[in-house]
Amino acid sequence: MAENGKDIKSFTPEELKKELEAKGEKGFRAKQMYEWMHKKLATGFDEMTNLPASLREKCKEEYYYADLEPVTVLTSKLDGTRKYLFRLRDGHFVESVWMKYHHGNSVCISSQVGCKMGCRFCASTLDGWERNLTPSEMLEQIYAMARDNGERVSNVVVMGTGEPLDNYENLVKFIRMLTNEEGLNISQRNVTVSTCGLVPEIRRLAEEDLSITLALSLHAPTDEKRKELMPIAKRYTLAEVMDACEYYFNKTGRRISFEYALVAGVNDNEEEAGQLISLIGGKNCHVNLIPVNPIKERDYVSTAQDKVLKFKNKLEKNHINATVRRTLGSDINASCGQLRKQHMEV
Ligand code: SAH
Repeated sequence: MAENGKDIKSFTPEELKKELEAKGEKGFRAKQMYEWMHKKLATGFDEMTNLPASLREKCKEEYYYADLEPVTVLTSKLDGTRKYLFRLRDGHFVESVWMKYHHGNSVCISSQVGCKMGCRFCASTLDGWERNLTPSEMLEQIYAMARDNGERVSNVVVMGTGEPLDNYENLVKFIRMLTNEEGLNISQRNVTVSTCGLVPEIRRLAEEDLSITLALSLHAPTDEKRKELMPIAKRYTLAEVMDACEYYFNKTGRRISFEYALVAGVNDNEEEAGQLISLIGGKNCHVNLIPVNPIKERDYVSTAQDKVLKFKNKLEKNHINATVRRTLGSDINASCGQLRKQHMEV
């Protein structure tokens, strides 16, 4: 579908000011409008009651107002986690998750429609990649959930569908807008971006002067094993990925979080725990162990709980900080592309 006009919600405060000034509007109008969109989370121009009606009409003609339509909202009876399936303007779907933690609300958002990366255990990649999300589409996932829940968001993780560093420009713009004081003003320290390990982009991100957390999807301690699970491992070696992570840490001072999905019989043995210790021992990092969430298209099985704990203990004995990811929303398929995939199949 061709878009009518420009995406007004993807303008930074400076860009919006330039846009409106070019129409002969005073600078403060841009500030008011930005606030309506990104702080008050207005759902359209009509809500912007302190702006002249003529300006609102002009904007409606020239811009489109990104908003997402929730098609499905599932609420977990176990922990209140809410999973959203949103329809985009062009008819594609993305999913997002709202999670309640003791320290506040955390949201998980998607960065692309589908994914090119092809990780073997992941549902988001099964039907390939469609397109990148715009900054406004990433922001609006958060805004729509905040509106629906009537609560503030304190943490944002970019761990939904897609490879965020494969949508680099939009991602960085999104983060700057999300953490801007004229918008939701979320602390950069409360933003996490998860990547399967795109080495040049990790290095580029390190230069952005952002203090966000980088989560690296490691999932295997050797190149050989990693290649079995993640095609990206054929492009970049573990040594290259580790160097990029080291660089990120040195530049930003932010500790890397390594994600490790435990797959029974594949990467969860004593041997792999030992190899993982050799790989990351002594580094300033954190390991997040995630018992793999089985998807029906693959025959991967999740590691049993006692073995998960054994793996974790072995890391801890070697002074590696490790946690087991809490499973939230397990009754609503709240993980990794499953809802979108189901929706496409019916
Ligand atoms: N493309 C990015 C972010 C999206 S995936 C990345 O690769 O990091 C977010 C995390 O969920 C990644 O660590 C990914 O490997 C993991 N993941 C995907 N499918 C999973 C599954 N079925 N079970 C457990 N973790 C999964």
